[in-house]
Amino acid sequence: MSQSSHLNKSLDDEMHKVLEDLTSNVKQIQDDLLEEILTHNANTEYLKRFLHGRSGKELFKKNVPIVTYVDVEPYIERVANGEPSDIISAQPITKFAFRYVFCSGTSGGKMKLLPFNVKYLENVEFISNVRSFVISRHIDGADQGKAIRFAFIKMESTTPSGLPAAPASTIVLKTAYFRNLASKSYTSPNEIILCRDNKQSMYCHLLCGLVRREEVVSVSAAFASALVRAISFLEEYWKELCGNIRMGHVSEWIEDTSCRNCVSEILGGPNPELANLIEKECNQISWGGIICRLWPKTKFVECVITGQMTHYIPTLEFYSNKLPIVSMKYFSSETSIGINLNPLCKPQDVSYTFMPKMAYFEFLLVDEANEVKIVDLVDVNLGCYYEPLVTSYTGLYRYRLGDVLQVSGFYNNAPQFRFVRRNDVALSVDIETTTEEELLKAVANARMVLDSSDLMLTNFTWYADISTIPGHYVGYWELKAKNKNTILDLDKKLMAECCYVLEETFGSIYRAYRSKNGLIGALEIRVVLPGTFDSLMNFFISEGASLVQYKTPICMRSSNALAILEDKVFARFFSDKPPPFDF
Ligand code: AMP
Repeated sequence: MSQSSHLNKSLDDEMHKVLEDLTSNVKQIQDDLLEEILTHNANTEYLKRFLHGRSGKELFKKNVPIVTYVDVEPYIERVANGEPSDIISAQPITKFAFRYVFCSGTSGGKMKLLPFNVKYLENVEFISNVRSFVISRHIDGADQGKAIRFAFIKMESTTPSGLPAAPASTIVLKTAYFRNLASKSYTSPNEIILCRDNKQSMYCHLLCGLVRREEVVSVSAAFASALVRAISFLEEYWKELCGNIRMGHVSEWIEDTSCRNCVSEILGGPNPELANLIEKECNQISWGGIICRLWPKTKFVECVITGQMTHYIPTLEFYSNKLPIVSMKYFSSETSIGINLNPLCKPQDVSYTFMPKMAYFEFLLVDEANEVKIVDLVDVNLGCYYEPLVTSYTGLYRYRLGDVLQVSGFYNNAPQFRFVRRNDVALSVDIETTTEEELLKAVANARMVLDSSDLMLTNFTWYADISTIPGHYVGYWELKAKNKNTILDLDKKLMAECCYVLEETFGSIYRAYRSKNGLIGALEIRVVLPGTFDSLMNFFISEGASLVQYKTPICMRSSNALAILEDKVFARFFSDKPPPFDF
Protein backbone atom coordinates (compact mmCIF):
# COMPACT_ATOMS: atom_id res chain seq x y z
CA MET A 1 0.00 0.00 0.00
CA SER A 2 1.41 3.43 -0.96
CA GLN A 3 1.93 6.18 1.62
CA SER A 4 -1.01 8.18 0.30
CA SER A 5 -3.38 5.19 0.42
CA HIS A 6 -2.23 4.59 4.00
CA LEU A 7 -3.07 8.18 4.80
CA ASN A 8 -6.46 7.92 3.06
CA LYS A 9 -7.22 4.70 4.93
CA SER A 10 -6.45 6.22 8.30
CA LEU A 11 -8.52 9.35 7.47
CA ASP A 12 -11.35 7.04 6.45
CA ASP A 13 -11.10 5.08 9.69
CA GLU A 14 -11.09 8.31 11.63
CA MET A 15 -14.19 9.61 9.86
CA HIS A 16 -15.95 6.28 10.33
CA LYS A 17 -15.31 6.55 14.06
CA VAL A 18 -16.50 10.16 14.20
CA LEU A 19 -19.69 9.27 12.37
CA GLU A 20 -20.44 6.26 14.53
CA ASP A 21 -19.83 8.31 17.64
CA LEU A 22 -22.02 11.19 16.47
CA THR A 23 -24.92 9.00 15.50
CA SER A 24 -24.71 6.87 18.64
CA ASN A 25 -24.52 9.65 21.24
CA VAL A 26 -27.17 11.94 19.82
CA LYS A 27 -28.85 12.84 23.09
CA GLN A 28 -25.65 13.75 24.90
CA ILE A 29 -24.26 15.72 21.97
CA GLN A 30 -27.49 17.67 21.53
CA ASP A 31 -27.83 18.44 25.25
CA ASP A 32 -24.20 19.55 25.49
CA LEU A 33 -24.60 21.69 22.40
CA LEU A 34 -27.66 23.44 23.77
CA GLU A 35 -25.93 24.08 27.05
CA GLU A 36 -22.92 25.53 25.27
CA ILE A 37 -25.05 27.79 23.04
CA LEU A 38 -27.11 29.00 26.01
CA THR A 39 -24.13 29.61 28.30
CA HIS A 40 -22.29 31.48 25.57
CA ASN A 41 -25.27 33.58 24.60
CA ALA A 42 -27.02 34.03 27.94
CA ASN A 43 -26.13 37.73 27.95
CA THR A 44 -27.31 38.55 24.47
CA GLU A 45 -30.13 41.06 24.48
CA TYR A 46 -32.41 38.53 22.83
CA LEU A 47 -31.95 35.66 25.27
CA LYS A 48 -31.85 37.95 28.32
CA ARG A 49 -35.42 38.94 27.53
CA PHE A 50 -36.53 35.37 28.09
CA LEU A 51 -33.92 33.76 30.33
CA HIS A 52 -32.76 36.76 32.39
CA GLY A 53 -29.11 35.77 32.13
CA ARG A 54 -29.71 32.14 33.08
CA SER A 55 -29.39 29.03 30.95
CA GLY A 56 -30.76 25.52 31.29
CA LYS A 57 -32.76 23.35 28.98
CA GLU A 58 -36.00 23.43 30.94
CA LEU A 59 -36.08 27.20 31.21
CA PHE A 60 -35.18 27.47 27.54
CA LYS A 61 -38.07 25.24 26.54
CA LYS A 62 -40.48 27.06 28.83
CA ASN A 63 -39.54 30.67 28.07
CA VAL A 64 -37.94 31.04 24.68
CA PRO A 65 -40.57 31.47 21.98
CA ILE A 66 -40.79 29.63 18.70
CA VAL A 67 -40.15 32.15 15.98
CA THR A 68 -40.18 32.71 12.26
CA TYR A 69 -38.06 35.15 10.29
CA VAL A 70 -40.42 38.10 10.82
CA ASP A 71 -40.08 37.78 14.59
CA VAL A 72 -36.29 38.04 14.56
CA GLU A 73 -35.98 40.40 11.59
CA PRO A 74 -35.89 43.56 13.78
CA TYR A 75 -32.95 42.16 15.78
CA ILE A 76 -31.08 41.06 12.66
CA GLU A 77 -31.69 44.43 11.02
CA ARG A 78 -30.26 46.23 14.02
CA VAL A 79 -27.01 44.26 13.70
CA ALA A 80 -27.01 44.84 9.95
CA ASN A 81 -27.42 48.54 10.65
CA GLY A 82 -24.39 48.71 12.90
CA GLU A 83 -25.40 47.73 16.43
CA PRO A 84 -23.16 45.10 18.10
CA SER A 85 -23.61 41.41 17.25
CA ASP A 86 -24.32 40.56 20.87
CA ILE A 87 -27.90 41.67 20.46
CA ILE A 88 -28.36 38.10 19.25
CA SER A 89 -25.01 36.31 19.28
CA ALA A 90 -21.95 36.27 21.54
CA GLN A 91 -19.89 34.93 18.64
CA PRO A 92 -19.34 37.96 16.37
CA ILE A 93 -21.49 38.04 13.27
CA THR A 94 -19.02 38.70 10.50
CA LYS A 95 -21.31 38.48 7.48
CA PHE A 96 -24.88 37.98 6.45
CA ALA A 97 -26.16 35.24 4.21
CA PHE A 98 -28.97 36.60 2.12
CA ARG A 99 -31.71 34.46 0.80
CA TYR A 100 -34.13 35.57 -1.85
CA VAL A 101 -37.70 34.62 -1.05
CA PHE A 102 -40.42 34.56 -3.66
CA CYS A 103 -43.48 36.60 -2.71
CA SER A 104 -46.62 38.08 -4.10
CA GLY A 105 -46.79 41.59 -5.49
CA THR A 106 -45.12 43.27 -8.42
CA SER A 107 -41.53 42.45 -7.50
CA GLY A 108 -40.40 38.84 -7.63
CA GLY A 109 -39.58 38.62 -3.95
CA LYS A 110 -37.56 39.99 -1.09
CA MET A 111 -34.29 39.38 0.72
CA LYS A 112 -33.94 37.69 4.06
CA LEU A 113 -30.71 38.35 5.94
CA LEU A 114 -29.39 35.54 8.07
CA PRO A 115 -26.54 35.90 10.55
CA PHE A 116 -23.36 34.15 9.52
CA ASN A 117 -20.16 33.40 11.39
CA VAL A 118 -17.23 31.06 11.60
CA LYS A 119 -19.31 28.30 13.19
CA TYR A 120 -21.45 28.10 10.07
CA LEU A 121 -18.35 27.52 7.97
CA GLU A 122 -16.96 24.89 10.35
CA ASN A 123 -20.22 22.98 9.97
CA VAL A 124 -20.20 23.25 6.17
CA GLU A 125 -16.66 21.87 6.09
CA PHE A 126 -17.63 19.02 8.37
CA ILE A 127 -20.62 18.06 6.21
CA SER A 128 -18.46 18.29 3.13
CA ASN A 129 -15.93 15.88 4.66
CA VAL A 130 -18.67 13.44 5.64
CA ARG A 131 -20.06 13.65 2.13
CA SER A 132 -16.68 12.75 0.59
CA PHE A 133 -16.26 9.88 3.01
CA VAL A 134 -19.71 8.44 2.31
CA ILE A 135 -19.34 8.82 -1.46
CA SER A 136 -15.95 7.15 -1.52
CA ARG A 137 -17.32 4.23 0.50
CA HIS A 138 -20.19 3.64 -1.92
CA ILE A 139 -18.85 4.61 -5.33
CA ASP A 140 -15.65 3.01 -6.48
CA GLY A 141 -13.24 5.44 -8.07
CA ALA A 142 -15.33 8.51 -7.23
CA ASP A 143 -12.23 10.25 -5.97
CA GLN A 144 -10.07 9.20 -8.89
CA GLY A 145 -11.15 11.93 -11.24
CA LYS A 146 -12.83 15.29 -11.29
CA ALA A 147 -16.32 16.65 -11.07
CA ILE A 148 -17.82 19.16 -13.44
CA ARG A 149 -19.31 21.30 -10.74
CA PHE A 150 -21.74 23.99 -11.81
CA ALA A 151 -20.94 26.44 -9.03
CA PHE A 152 -21.51 30.17 -9.28
CA ILE A 153 -21.24 33.20 -7.09
CA LYS A 154 -23.27 36.34 -6.77
CA MET A 155 -21.83 39.76 -6.16
CA GLU A 156 -21.37 40.57 -2.51
CA SER A 157 -23.15 43.64 -1.17
CA THR A 158 -22.75 45.34 2.19
CA THR A 159 -25.19 46.13 4.94
CA PRO A 160 -25.54 49.77 6.08
CA SER A 161 -22.92 49.04 8.76
CA GLY A 162 -20.48 47.72 6.16
CA LEU A 163 -20.81 44.00 6.88
CA PRO A 164 -20.60 41.84 3.74
CA ALA A 165 -23.81 40.15 2.59
CA ALA A 166 -24.06 37.44 -0.06
CA PRO A 167 -25.86 34.12 -0.59
CA ALA A 168 -24.50 31.47 1.77
CA SER A 169 -23.21 29.51 -1.23
CA THR A 170 -21.16 32.49 -2.39
CA ILE A 171 -19.61 33.02 1.04
CA VAL A 172 -18.75 29.33 1.23
CA LEU A 173 -17.27 29.15 -2.28
CA LYS A 174 -14.94 32.04 -1.49
CA THR A 175 -13.36 30.39 1.56
CA ALA A 176 -9.85 28.95 1.40
CA TYR A 177 -11.23 25.49 2.21
CA PHE A 178 -13.52 25.43 -0.81
CA ARG A 179 -11.04 27.10 -3.13
CA ASN A 180 -8.64 24.33 -2.24
CA LEU A 181 -11.30 21.66 -2.70
CA ALA A 182 -12.31 23.10 -6.06
CA SER A 183 -8.78 23.22 -7.40
CA LYS A 184 -8.26 19.56 -6.49
CA SER A 185 -11.63 18.14 -7.40
CA TYR A 186 -13.34 20.22 -10.10
CA THR A 187 -12.69 20.57 -13.82
CA SER A 188 -13.11 24.35 -13.58
CA PRO A 189 -10.44 26.48 -11.95
CA ASN A 190 -11.55 28.81 -9.15
CA GLU A 191 -11.41 31.81 -11.48
CA ILE A 192 -14.45 30.43 -13.29
CA ILE A 193 -16.42 29.70 -10.14
CA LEU A 194 -15.61 33.15 -8.79
CA CYS A 195 -16.46 35.01 -12.02
CA ARG A 196 -19.15 37.60 -11.29
CA ASP A 197 -21.01 37.01 -14.52
CA ASN A 198 -23.01 33.77 -14.35
CA LYS A 199 -23.33 33.45 -18.13
CA GLN A 200 -19.58 33.65 -18.74
CA SER A 201 -19.08 31.33 -15.82
CA MET A 202 -21.55 28.75 -17.21
CA TYR A 203 -19.94 28.85 -20.64
CA CYS A 204 -16.46 28.37 -19.20
CA HIS A 205 -17.58 25.54 -16.87
CA LEU A 206 -18.83 23.69 -19.94
CA LEU A 207 -15.75 24.46 -22.01
CA CYS A 208 -13.36 23.21 -19.32
CA GLY A 209 -15.58 20.19 -18.66
CA LEU A 210 -15.59 19.25 -22.34
CA VAL A 211 -11.84 19.67 -22.77
CA ARG A 212 -11.16 17.62 -19.65
CA ARG A 213 -13.85 15.08 -20.47
CA GLU A 214 -11.61 12.07 -19.90
CA GLU A 215 -11.04 13.07 -16.27
CA VAL A 216 -14.71 13.57 -15.41
CA VAL A 217 -16.21 11.08 -12.94
CA SER A 218 -19.24 13.11 -11.87
CA VAL A 219 -21.45 15.96 -12.99
CA SER A 220 -22.83 18.05 -10.16
CA ALA A 221 -24.50 21.18 -8.82
CA ALA A 222 -26.00 22.07 -5.46
CA PHE A 223 -29.60 21.73 -6.68
CA ALA A 224 -30.98 19.86 -9.70
CA SER A 225 -32.34 23.11 -11.19
CA ALA A 226 -28.83 24.44 -11.93
CA LEU A 227 -27.84 21.13 -13.49
CA VAL A 228 -30.83 21.10 -15.81
CA ARG A 229 -30.11 24.73 -16.65
CA ALA A 230 -26.52 23.75 -17.55
CA ILE A 231 -27.75 21.10 -19.99
CA SER A 232 -30.16 23.51 -21.66
CA PHE A 233 -27.32 26.04 -21.90
CA LEU A 234 -25.21 23.35 -23.55
CA GLU A 235 -28.01 22.71 -26.05
CA GLU A 236 -27.95 26.37 -26.92
CA TYR A 237 -24.16 26.81 -27.06
CA TRP A 238 -22.61 23.50 -28.12
CA LYS A 239 -21.80 24.68 -31.65
CA GLU A 240 -19.95 27.71 -30.33
CA LEU A 241 -18.19 25.57 -27.70
CA CYS A 242 -17.08 23.14 -30.41
CA GLY A 243 -15.88 26.09 -32.50
CA ASN A 244 -13.74 27.28 -29.57
CA ILE A 245 -12.27 23.80 -29.09
CA ARG A 246 -11.61 23.40 -32.82
CA MET A 247 -9.74 26.71 -33.06
CA GLY A 248 -8.22 26.68 -29.56
CA HIS A 249 -9.63 30.14 -29.03
CA VAL A 250 -12.18 31.33 -26.48
CA SER A 251 -15.16 33.39 -27.74
CA GLU A 252 -14.62 37.14 -27.55
CA TRP A 253 -17.64 37.69 -25.30
CA ILE A 254 -15.80 35.95 -22.48
CA GLU A 255 -14.43 39.24 -21.27
CA ASP A 256 -13.54 38.37 -17.70
CA THR A 257 -9.76 38.36 -17.97
CA SER A 258 -9.06 35.73 -15.31
CA CYS A 259 -11.63 33.40 -16.88
CA ARG A 260 -10.23 33.99 -20.38
CA ASN A 261 -6.69 33.33 -19.30
CA CYS A 262 -7.29 30.11 -17.45
CA VAL A 263 -9.71 28.69 -20.03
CA SER A 264 -7.26 29.52 -22.83
CA GLU A 265 -4.60 27.62 -20.93
CA ILE A 266 -6.87 24.60 -20.49
CA LEU A 267 -7.84 24.69 -24.17
CA GLY A 268 -4.15 24.46 -24.98
CA GLY A 269 -4.51 24.89 -28.71
CA PRO A 270 -6.68 23.79 -31.63
CA ASN A 271 -8.24 20.37 -31.09
CA PRO A 272 -10.36 19.48 -34.15
CA GLU A 273 -10.62 15.79 -33.19
CA LEU A 274 -12.27 16.59 -29.89
CA ALA A 275 -14.50 19.20 -31.52
CA ASN A 276 -15.64 16.61 -34.10
CA LEU A 277 -16.36 14.06 -31.43
CA ILE A 278 -18.47 16.44 -29.36
CA GLU A 279 -20.23 17.71 -32.46
CA LYS A 280 -21.13 14.17 -33.45
CA GLU A 281 -22.72 13.49 -30.07
CA CYS A 282 -24.59 16.80 -29.84
CA ASN A 283 -25.86 16.45 -33.42
CA GLN A 284 -27.69 13.22 -32.66
CA ILE A 285 -31.45 13.43 -32.93
CA SER A 286 -31.98 12.57 -29.29
CA TRP A 287 -30.16 14.07 -26.32
CA GLY A 288 -30.99 11.01 -24.27
CA GLY A 289 -27.85 9.93 -22.38
CA ILE A 290 -25.93 13.05 -23.45
CA ILE A 291 -24.11 13.21 -20.10
CA CYS A 292 -22.65 9.71 -20.53
CA ARG A 293 -21.90 10.30 -24.19
CA LEU A 294 -19.95 13.50 -23.59
CA TRP A 295 -18.37 12.36 -20.33
CA PRO A 296 -18.04 8.61 -20.73
CA LYS A 297 -16.34 7.96 -17.38
CA THR A 298 -19.09 9.62 -15.36
CA LYS A 299 -20.13 7.39 -12.48
CA PHE A 300 -22.84 9.54 -10.97
CA VAL A 301 -24.75 12.78 -11.09
CA GLU A 302 -24.83 14.73 -7.84
CA CYS A 303 -27.35 17.36 -6.78
CA VAL A 304 -30.25 17.79 -4.37
CA ILE A 305 -33.08 15.89 -6.04
CA THR A 306 -35.57 15.77 -3.17
CA GLY A 307 -38.41 18.13 -2.20
CA GLN A 308 -39.04 20.77 -4.83
CA MET A 309 -36.40 19.18 -7.03
CA THR A 310 -38.13 15.80 -7.46
CA HIS A 311 -39.73 16.84 -10.70
CA TYR A 312 -36.30 17.04 -12.33
CA ILE A 313 -35.70 13.31 -11.76
CA PRO A 314 -37.11 12.16 -15.15
CA THR A 315 -35.22 14.89 -17.02
CA LEU A 316 -31.92 14.07 -15.36
CA GLU A 317 -32.51 10.34 -15.85
CA PHE A 318 -33.11 11.02 -19.51
CA TYR A 319 -29.91 13.04 -19.93
CA SER A 320 -27.81 10.62 -17.91
CA ASN A 321 -29.17 7.29 -19.13
CA LYS A 322 -30.22 6.53 -15.58
CA LEU A 323 -26.81 6.93 -13.95
CA PRO A 324 -27.20 7.12 -10.17
CA ILE A 325 -28.48 10.54 -9.10
CA VAL A 326 -26.93 11.14 -5.75
CA SER A 327 -28.61 13.60 -3.39
CA MET A 328 -26.22 14.00 -0.50
CA LYS A 329 -26.88 17.02 1.65
CA TYR A 330 -29.72 18.73 3.42
CA PHE A 331 -28.73 22.26 4.25
CA SER A 332 -29.95 25.82 4.40
CA SER A 333 -28.73 29.37 4.81
CA GLU A 334 -29.55 28.99 8.52
CA THR A 335 -27.45 25.89 9.15
CA SER A 336 -26.12 22.68 7.69
CA ILE A 337 -28.45 19.88 8.72
CA GLY A 338 -27.94 16.36 7.50
CA ILE A 339 -26.47 13.90 5.10
CA ASN A 340 -27.66 10.96 3.03
CA LEU A 341 -25.75 7.91 4.23
CA ASN A 342 -27.07 5.71 1.45
CA PRO A 343 -26.11 7.67 -1.68
CA LEU A 344 -26.97 4.96 -4.20
CA CYS A 345 -30.58 4.58 -3.11
CA LYS A 346 -33.29 5.62 -5.55
CA PRO A 347 -33.96 9.39 -5.57
CA GLN A 348 -37.49 8.67 -4.29
CA ASP A 349 -36.05 6.87 -1.24
CA VAL A 350 -33.53 9.47 -0.12
CA SER A 351 -33.41 10.21 3.61
CA TYR A 352 -31.12 12.57 5.43
CA THR A 353 -29.54 11.65 8.74
CA PHE A 354 -29.43 14.66 11.03
CA MET A 355 -25.94 15.48 12.24
CA PRO A 356 -26.38 16.35 15.93
CA LYS A 357 -23.33 18.61 16.01
CA MET A 358 -24.68 21.15 13.51
CA ALA A 359 -27.24 22.91 15.70
CA TYR A 360 -29.69 22.10 18.45
CA PHE A 361 -32.72 20.66 16.70
CA GLU A 362 -36.27 20.44 17.99
CA PHE A 363 -39.28 19.21 16.09
CA LEU A 364 -42.71 20.69 15.88
CA LEU A 365 -45.27 17.99 15.19
CA VAL A 366 -47.19 18.67 11.99
CA ASP A 367 -50.55 17.34 12.86
CA GLU A 368 -53.98 17.57 11.28
CA ALA A 369 -55.47 18.08 14.75
CA ASN A 370 -53.25 21.14 15.19
CA GLU A 371 -51.84 19.76 18.39
CA VAL A 372 -48.74 21.78 19.40
CA LYS A 373 -46.12 19.26 20.39
CA ILE A 374 -42.39 19.84 20.34
CA VAL A 375 -39.89 17.05 20.79
CA ASP A 376 -36.12 16.67 20.79
CA LEU A 377 -34.18 15.03 17.98
CA VAL A 378 -33.97 11.72 19.87
CA ASP A 379 -37.69 11.70 20.62
CA VAL A 380 -39.16 11.86 17.13
CA ASN A 381 -41.40 8.95 16.14
CA LEU A 382 -41.06 6.83 13.06
CA GLY A 383 -43.54 7.84 10.35
CA CYS A 384 -44.51 11.16 11.97
CA TYR A 385 -44.28 14.53 10.24
CA TYR A 386 -42.36 17.40 11.80
CA GLU A 387 -41.07 20.88 11.10
CA PRO A 388 -37.52 21.38 12.44
CA LEU A 389 -36.70 24.25 14.79
CA VAL A 390 -33.12 25.41 14.89
CA THR A 391 -31.10 26.88 17.72
CA SER A 392 -27.72 27.75 16.30
CA TYR A 393 -24.37 29.32 17.06
CA THR A 394 -25.27 32.13 14.69
CA GLY A 395 -27.96 33.72 16.89
CA LEU A 396 -31.13 31.87 15.92
CA TYR A 397 -33.19 30.38 18.73
CA ARG A 398 -36.10 27.98 18.16
CA TYR A 399 -36.31 29.24 14.62
CA ARG A 400 -38.79 27.51 12.30
CA LEU A 401 -37.09 26.24 9.17
CA GLY A 402 -40.35 26.00 7.23
CA ASP A 403 -39.68 22.48 5.91
CA VAL A 404 -41.88 19.48 6.62
CA LEU A 405 -40.06 16.18 7.10
CA GLN A 406 -41.14 12.62 7.84
CA VAL A 407 -39.14 10.28 10.06
CA SER A 408 -38.11 7.39 7.86
CA GLY A 409 -35.67 5.47 10.05
CA PHE A 410 -32.64 5.66 12.29
CA TYR A 411 -28.92 5.27 11.81
CA ASN A 412 -27.72 4.15 15.24
CA ASN A 413 -29.65 6.66 17.36
CA ALA A 414 -29.75 9.44 14.79
CA PRO A 415 -33.12 9.91 13.14
CA GLN A 416 -33.35 9.96 9.37
CA PHE A 417 -35.88 12.10 7.57
CA ARG A 418 -37.53 12.14 4.19
CA PHE A 419 -38.03 15.65 2.87
CA VAL A 420 -41.76 16.14 2.34
CA ARG A 421 -42.43 19.77 1.40
CA ARG A 422 -42.10 23.43 2.24
CA ASN A 423 -44.69 24.47 4.77
CA ASP A 424 -45.58 27.73 3.10
CA VAL A 425 -46.26 26.54 -0.43
CA ALA A 426 -49.86 25.75 -1.24
CA LEU A 427 -52.46 26.53 -3.86
CA SER A 428 -56.01 27.51 -3.08
CA VAL A 429 -58.94 29.10 -4.90
CA ASP A 430 -61.64 28.35 -2.34
CA ILE A 431 -61.53 26.62 1.04
CA GLU A 432 -59.40 23.73 -0.28
CA THR A 433 -55.62 23.83 0.06
CA THR A 434 -53.33 21.78 -2.11
CA THR A 435 -49.86 21.37 -0.63
CA GLU A 436 -46.54 21.41 -2.45
CA GLU A 437 -46.29 17.65 -2.04
CA GLU A 438 -49.72 17.13 -3.63
CA LEU A 439 -48.91 19.48 -6.49
CA LEU A 440 -45.68 17.62 -7.18
CA LYS A 441 -47.37 14.23 -6.94
CA ALA A 442 -50.10 15.30 -9.36
CA VAL A 443 -47.49 16.38 -11.89
CA ALA A 444 -45.63 13.09 -11.46
CA ASN A 445 -48.86 11.24 -12.29
CA ALA A 446 -49.60 13.44 -15.30
CA ARG A 447 -46.07 12.78 -16.52
CA MET A 448 -46.98 9.10 -16.86
CA VAL A 449 -49.65 10.11 -19.36
CA LEU A 450 -46.99 11.98 -21.34
CA ASP A 451 -44.72 8.93 -21.30
CA SER A 452 -46.81 7.40 -24.09
CA SER A 453 -45.90 10.35 -26.33
CA ASP A 454 -42.70 11.99 -27.53
CA LEU A 455 -43.19 14.84 -25.05
CA MET A 456 -41.12 15.62 -21.97
CA LEU A 457 -42.22 18.03 -19.29
CA THR A 458 -39.08 20.02 -18.48
CA ASN A 459 -40.45 22.62 -16.08
CA PHE A 460 -43.69 23.83 -14.59
CA THR A 461 -45.25 26.06 -11.99
CA TRP A 462 -48.75 26.55 -10.61
CA TYR A 463 -51.00 29.55 -10.30
CA ALA A 464 -54.37 29.98 -8.56
CA ASP A 465 -56.42 32.01 -11.03
CA ILE A 466 -59.23 33.71 -9.15
CA SER A 467 -59.92 36.23 -11.89
CA THR A 468 -62.38 33.70 -13.31
CA ILE A 469 -65.62 32.65 -11.61
CA PRO A 470 -65.26 30.08 -10.26
CA GLY A 471 -61.49 30.27 -9.70
CA HIS A 472 -59.37 27.51 -11.18
CA TYR A 473 -55.88 26.01 -11.03
CA VAL A 474 -53.48 26.85 -13.83
CA GLY A 475 -50.34 24.87 -14.53
CA TYR A 476 -47.74 26.56 -16.74
CA TRP A 477 -45.91 23.79 -18.54
CA GLU A 478 -42.77 23.86 -20.63
CA LEU A 479 -42.66 20.84 -22.90
CA LYS A 480 -39.97 19.49 -25.12
CA ALA A 481 -39.87 16.76 -27.75
CA LYS A 482 -37.55 13.90 -26.78
CA ASN A 483 -36.54 13.68 -30.39
CA LYS A 484 -35.21 17.11 -31.20
CA ASN A 485 -36.16 17.07 -34.88
CA THR A 486 -39.83 16.62 -34.05
CA ILE A 487 -42.13 19.59 -33.93
CA LEU A 488 -44.03 19.82 -30.64
CA ASP A 489 -47.21 17.94 -31.33
CA LEU A 490 -49.75 18.83 -28.67
CA ASP A 491 -52.54 16.34 -28.92
CA LYS A 492 -55.70 17.83 -27.43
CA LYS A 493 -56.91 14.53 -26.06
CA LEU A 494 -53.60 13.74 -24.42
CA MET A 495 -53.38 17.17 -22.82
CA ALA A 496 -56.98 16.97 -21.55
CA GLU A 497 -56.09 13.58 -20.07
CA CYS A 498 -53.14 15.23 -18.27
CA CYS A 499 -55.53 17.85 -16.84
CA TYR A 500 -57.85 15.10 -15.67
CA VAL A 501 -55.07 13.09 -14.01
CA LEU A 502 -53.87 16.21 -12.20
CA GLU A 503 -57.35 16.84 -10.84
CA GLU A 504 -57.89 13.20 -9.98
CA THR A 505 -54.78 13.30 -7.74
CA PHE A 506 -55.89 16.30 -5.68
CA GLY A 507 -57.55 16.04 -2.27
CA SER A 508 -61.18 15.20 -1.60
CA ILE A 509 -62.26 18.80 -0.95
CA TYR A 510 -60.81 19.92 -4.27
CA ARG A 511 -62.57 17.10 -6.11
CA ALA A 512 -65.92 17.68 -4.39
CA TYR A 513 -65.78 21.43 -4.96
CA ARG A 514 -64.86 20.91 -8.57
CA SER A 515 -67.28 18.12 -9.41
CA LYS A 516 -70.24 18.35 -7.08
CA ASN A 517 -70.50 21.98 -6.17
CA GLY A 518 -68.91 23.64 -9.20
CA LEU A 519 -67.02 25.97 -6.88
CA ILE A 520 -63.74 25.25 -8.60
CA GLY A 521 -63.42 25.59 -12.36
CA ALA A 522 -61.80 23.14 -14.78
CA LEU A 523 -58.05 22.89 -14.40
CA GLU A 524 -56.06 24.50 -17.17
CA ILE A 525 -52.62 23.78 -18.58
CA ARG A 526 -50.99 26.70 -20.35
CA VAL A 527 -48.09 25.52 -22.48
CA VAL A 528 -45.23 28.01 -22.74
CA LEU A 529 -42.52 28.36 -25.36
CA PRO A 530 -39.16 26.58 -24.94
CA GLY A 531 -36.77 28.60 -22.81
CA THR A 532 -39.51 30.33 -20.80
CA PHE A 533 -38.41 28.88 -17.49
CA ASP A 534 -34.82 29.94 -18.20
CA SER A 535 -36.16 33.48 -18.70
CA LEU A 536 -38.03 33.14 -15.42
CA MET A 537 -34.84 32.04 -13.67
CA ASN A 538 -32.96 34.97 -15.22
CA PHE A 539 -35.66 37.32 -13.97
CA PHE A 540 -35.39 36.05 -10.40
CA ILE A 541 -31.59 36.11 -10.57
CA SER A 542 -31.71 39.74 -11.75
CA GLU A 543 -33.93 40.46 -8.74
CA GLY A 544 -31.39 38.98 -6.34
CA ALA A 545 -31.82 35.18 -6.31
CA SER A 546 -28.67 33.07 -6.50
CA LEU A 547 -28.21 30.63 -9.39
CA VAL A 548 -26.69 28.05 -7.03
CA GLN A 549 -29.60 28.14 -4.59
CA TYR A 550 -32.34 28.76 -7.17
CA LYS A 551 -35.47 26.68 -6.88
CA THR A 552 -38.22 27.22 -9.44
CA PRO A 553 -41.23 28.35 -7.42
CA ILE A 554 -43.84 25.60 -7.34
CA CYS A 555 -46.56 28.25 -7.04
CA MET A 556 -46.40 31.61 -8.70
CA ARG A 557 -47.46 34.72 -6.84
CA SER A 558 -45.42 37.57 -8.29
CA SER A 559 -47.29 39.49 -10.98
CA ASN A 560 -44.11 40.45 -12.84
CA ALA A 561 -42.96 36.85 -12.97
CA LEU A 562 -46.44 35.80 -14.06
CA ALA A 563 -46.28 38.32 -16.88
CA ILE A 564 -43.14 36.58 -18.19
CA LEU A 565 -45.02 33.30 -18.32
CA GLU A 566 -48.19 34.76 -19.81
CA ASP A 567 -46.21 36.37 -22.57
CA LYS A 568 -44.92 32.97 -23.68
CA VAL A 569 -48.15 30.96 -23.55
CA PHE A 570 -48.90 29.41 -26.93
CA ALA A 571 -51.52 26.77 -26.15
CA ARG A 572 -54.18 26.20 -23.51
CA PHE A 573 -55.89 22.99 -22.51
CA PHE A 574 -58.67 22.31 -20.03
CA SER A 575 -59.84 19.31 -18.16
CA ASP A 576 -62.88 18.03 -20.08
CA LYS A 577 -64.48 15.94 -17.35
CA PRO A 578 -64.74 16.42 -13.60
CA PRO A 579 -62.69 14.16 -11.32
CA PRO A 580 -64.34 11.50 -9.15
CA PHE A 581 -65.29 12.55 -5.63
CA ASP A 582 -65.92 10.58 -2.48
CA PHE A 583 -68.71 12.44 -0.66
P1 AMP B 1 -31.29 28.00 0.93
O1 AMP B 1 -31.20 28.67 2.26
O2 AMP B 1 -31.55 28.91 -0.21
O3 AMP B 1 -30.11 27.09 0.69
O4 AMP B 1 -32.55 27.06 0.98
C1 AMP B 1 -32.72 26.15 2.02
C2 AMP B 1 -33.93 25.34 1.73
O5 AMP B 1 -33.69 24.54 0.56
C3 AMP B 1 -34.28 24.36 2.79
O6 AMP B 1 -34.98 24.93 3.88
C4 AMP B 1 -35.13 23.39 2.00
O7 AMP B 1 -36.43 23.88 1.81
C5 AMP B 1 -34.39 23.34 0.67
N1 AMP B 1 -33.43 22.23 0.70
C6 AMP B 1 -32.15 22.23 1.07
N2 AMP B 1 -31.61 21.01 1.00
C7 AMP B 1 -32.60 20.20 0.56
C8 AMP B 1 -32.71 18.81 0.29
N3 AMP B 1 -31.67 17.99 0.41
N4 AMP B 1 -33.90 18.34 -0.13
C9 AMP B 1 -34.97 19.15 -0.30
N5 AMP B 1 -34.93 20.45 -0.05
C10 AMP B 1 -33.77 20.98 0.37
